[in-house]
Amino acid sequence: MLVVVSNKYRDTYKYRRKLNNLGLHFECGKWKLKTSDEYVIESIVRFCRRKKLYYECIEDNYVRSNNYRKKFIEHYEKQKGKYYRCAYCGKKIEENKMTVDHIIPIDKVQHHWIYRKLMKMSGITNINDVSNLTPACEHCNKRKGNKINLRYYIRGILGRKYKSATKTHFAIIIIYLLLVLGVFCVITLLFTDEINMIINWLVKYF
Ligand SMILES: [Zn+2]
Repeated sequence: MLVVVSNKYRDTYKYRRKLNNLGLHFECGKWKLKTSDEYVIESIVRFCRRKKLYYECIEDNYVRSNNYRKKFIEHYEKQKGKYYRCAYCGKKIEENKMTVDHIIPIDKVQHHWIYRKLMKMSGITNINDVSNLTPACEHCNKRKGNKINLRYYIRGILGRKYKSATKTHFAIIIIYLLLVLGVFCVITLLFTDEINMIINWLVKYF
């Protein structure tokens, strides 16, 4: 479990010594502790409730692991045994310059149930599962950051699957066309009468 205490309701600065004594460390503006000790978790929760501090207890499934990069490298072979390809821009990257991106970002699943649902729907039980990891160049990884949208989701998965950038682009175009076609069919089915009325009106006046 990852316990996070932050400044949402009340400033934590005043309680820094006690938080430190409870085992939490200050990192990126938040107090954090990764532990499985239920007694420690309970002590922190009790303290936060008493002092009205904002806290979150995040399950291990949604916490960045220390070895996800190693796991990814073990699982995905380099292309032609030499390089990886950025899933987002298609650029070839050497192993030492390759970053491993979480397609569904960690921050999103930690704070929004809808992304946890998306994770489950994608068959991912742990945020660090290799199926949620994809190779990315430093530039694309920085640009993506904590963002997730349809474009990044499809590219993250297909870019990892296809070994050539052209194939990926082609597959993405087909998926987008199918989506547009699907939306068009739904609109046509839902608004048949209105569409007929517009066509009749156009035929009558032009
Ligand atoms: Zn890239």
